[in-house]
Amino acid sequence: MGFEKFGRFGYVSQTKINPLLSYLEKGQIAATKCKKCGRTYFPPRADCLDDRHSGIEWVVLDGKSNLVTFTKVFFAPPAFQPETPYLLGLAELSNGLRVFAPISASVDEKQLKPGTELNLKVAKGARDNLFYWLE
Ligand SMILES: [Zn+2]
Repeated sequence: MGFEKFGRFGYVSQTKINPLLSYLEKGQIAATKCKKCGRTYFPPRADCLDDRHSGIEWVVLDGKSNLVTFTKVFFAPPAFQPETPYLLGLAELSNGLRVFAPISASVDEKQLKPGTELNLKVAKGARDNLFYWLE
């Protein structure tokens, strides 16, 4: 397989993932679900890791989750460095999917323990950028 094909494939993947932003704008968090095997992905994927199937559908997540574990981040990629230190959580959603997401600064670190109920929600950054976090 040549790189030209890889590049084209990457482009297709990008355009298929763009709907995530439309959902975020509506205050919803959406995952992709493989139409063939039903595996759900968040962050969304344009194709399935299990069977390489690229038929996907979008499903809106209710955001209800339980904390599995969390860690404090002191060093982050440049875009997130001003927010450090912040908490990064691994949470299990009601559909069994596990997601990594930052934890809202409004959450008291002392109250966090495995099993703590958190909601995966849409948040707006300082430059009106949309992202998601646990709160
Ligand atoms: Zn699949």
